[in-house]
Amino acid sequence: MNVHVPDNARRDLALVGCPDCACRFETPNYRLGMQQRCPECEAAIKPKYVRRAPDAGYSLSYHTFLQLLTVRPYRDEIVPLIAAWFGYRTEYRDRSLIVSNAAGRSVDLEQMHEMIQTSPRWQELLYWKAGKFFR
Ligand SMILES: [Zn+2]
Repeated sequence: MNVHVPDNARRDLALVGCPDCACRFETPNYRLGMQQRCPECEAAIKPKYVRRAPDAGYSLSYHTFLQLLTVRPYRDEIVPLIAAWFGYRTEYRDRSLIVSNAAGRSVDLEQMHEMIQTSPRWQELLYWKAGKFFR
């Protein structure tokens, strides 16, 4: 299976393993924590790190992205950023995160993550904004 890898993610390839068939393959660091299809057994899986990307650049994993949106104090800074960029509204109902667009439709969080991580500009802005928490 050929996954399209955007230019800014090319250097951030992590080596991962399929928890079902133990096959190893490379995937962009930012896809960690997202469901994807194993190139070998074709199961829908969440791959596990074997080796992190040597230079993950400005990428953030999906785990980290979810943390930024849900955990304080991160979310107090990140939610307004998402609102300013996309006009999305973020709510927390029973500890679950619901993001909706201007039309009130719910937004797929994996797609939003993918959209940010495949845009060099948004990716870098988010990285710097998040970076102050992680450094
Ligand atoms: Zn597999």
